Amino acid sequence: MVNVCDVQIMKPLLQEHGFHFSKAKGQNFLIAPWVPRSIAEQSGVDGQTGVLEIGPGIGPLTQQLCLRAGKVCAVEVDRRLEPILKITTGEFSNLEILWDDVLKLDLARLVREKFQGLRPVACANLPYYITTPILTALLEAECFDCVTVMVQKEVAQRIGAAPGSGDYGAFSVFCQYYAQPEILFDVPAHCFMPQPKVTSAVAALRVRRERPWKIDEPELFFRVVRASFAMRRKKLSNGLAAGFPDLGKTGAEEVIVRAGFDPNVRGETLGIGEFARLANEIARRGRGG
Ligand code: SAM
Repeated sequence: MVNVCDVQIMKPLLQEHGFHFSKAKGQNFLIAPWVPRSIAEQSGVDGQTGVLEIGPGIGPLTQQLCLRAGKVCAVEVDRRLEPILKITTGEFSNLEILWDDVLKLDLARLVREKFQGLRPVACANLPYYITTPILTALLEAECFDCVTVMVQKEVAQRIGAAPGSGDYGAFSVFCQYYAQPEILFDVPAHCFMPQPKVTSAVAALRVRRERPWKIDEPELFFRVVRASFAMRRKKLSNGLAAGFPDLGKTGAEEVIVRAGFDPNVRGETLGIGEFARLANEIARRGRGG
């Protein structure tokens, strides 16, 4: 197997194919072999697993996934990488590469078509410029058992943040609604070529089979969450009144009290169950209840 993390091997290989890193495509490739190995090991991939990898690059994580998984489907937008990936991953019969923009794919359909009989998971060193839309698509597709991703450390902290902490926001609630996140380990910038300006971290999001909250209208729930974080460090009633003009300030205060909260409560202290109570109260009011 070609050691793609060895710069002495990788640099001439890239040069030979006239490849230049694209900043616009978020191309920071792993050059520390322990990183792709640890990601693959800790992602829980085994012979019964179908793995969607996003952005194989020149294949360091792809190789490690192919060694462990039943099948790997890797989606890469940059076709210039085709001849290089052929050299680094051509030996794996359980690998299929799709040359496409992952954001244009119907992920649930891809999983149905490619991973029949396998446990579907996603695993990737994400292109950081589209971390949020990719994670959103992976979770909203509701077809993966687990999503293991390398992201900027500050994004990982937001994904896993608890109510009341500075990192907690609408994206934390979104991720924790769909999954139980765990931050696995940090990855310093010197593990990449070229080096990014930030530290990275690997997060595993174990997708919830069942959600322990009663949420009458999920769309309304997320609207409430966004409104609640839109005015940080202000009272929740201000954010709700701005996000739900029909309620107005008085209506917002009534909803907050009827849902069982102090009228001066701040949105960033509420957990998912508490946002659910608020959203259900607004839904009930909308129904004229
Ligand atoms: N997996 C490799 C590694 O760990 O060294 C490369 C990771 S690099 C951070 C991100 C990869 O995602 C690049 O190969 C880039 O070309 C690819 N990429 C960027 N945008 C993409 C998109 N919209 N769809 C699929 N792949 C994309």
